[in-house]
Amino acid sequence: MTEQHQARKRFGQNFLSDKNIIYKIIEAIRPAAGDRMVEIGPGLGAMTEPLMERLDHLHVVEIDRDLIARLKEAHSPDQLTIHEGDALKFDFGSLVADGAPLRVVGNLPYNISTPILFHLADYADKVKDMTFMLQKEVVMRMVGEPGTEEYGRLSVMLQYRFNMRRMFDVPPGAFRPAPKVMSSIVRMVPRPVAECTASDEALLGKIVTAAFGQRRKTLRNTLKDLLDEPGFAALGIDPGLRGERLDVATFVRIANHIARRAAPAA
Ligand code: SAM
Repeated sequence: MTEQHQARKRFGQNFLSDKNIIYKIIEAIRPAAGDRMVEIGPGLGAMTEPLMERLDHLHVVEIDRDLIARLKEAHSPDQLTIHEGDALKFDFGSLVADGAPLRVVGNLPYNISTPILFHLADYADKVKDMTFMLQKEVVMRMVGEPGTEEYGRLSVMLQYRFNMRRMFDVPPGAFRPAPKVMSSIVRMVPRPVAECTASDEALLGKIVTAAFGQRRKTLRNTLKDLLDEPGFAALGIDPGLRGERLDVATFVRIANHIARRAAPAA
């Protein structure tokens, strides 16, 4: 355990070292003894250990074998369950087989931040909340509002499933090695299911991808294979707008309109 670990770039390893920041993050998470919690990428344990002090049990998912060996050496399986492998392929649903909702936390590897957020979005119905550290620029896109530069596919697809809040920023000096960019802590809480639901979520994803594929083009252009002029008129949407002007509820209305039209008459 005394040997230095050489940080691996390919696993996005920037380890938290600032004790005050670590304390602030743990306070933001507010772990309670009986929580069902999983940490993605425990690394050298900067967050893992203070979390374990407050929890009866913690799950972690880690890909780096050297770090897994260290964790195994340091902690008993009674307190810490180590899932070895890629968080992008991990079945988070397997941790909530008994129905207790899951809390997900982590200082996420920045090189896989978007795919991991999309992977986790699939478990929204099993999750109580998620608290992550990510690049500030990614967090700004997650919480971005219509009409702003940050607003795009990531904003719509995550805001469709979660209420999200940027909590505070963390400077590069809080990590070893220091990353080149600012980081932020974001809290994600699943939205109530009944609120604004797309009957076909794959179709919603397709529409959002098309609308933001060419940001400078109008909806008339980007959605031409999906919605015609009478369709825009029926929905009361100006086809001369760009996708970035539409809020999440409007994207859902478009998806449900197209799904209804495509459905065979009963
Ligand atoms: N939690 C530690 C901390 O705050 O100091 C480490 C954070 S570091 C930014 C990201 C961690 O995620 C590393 O431990 C890295 O090995 C791990 N990791 C990278 N890619 C992963 C993946 N696909 N699945 C699981 N863990 C991964």
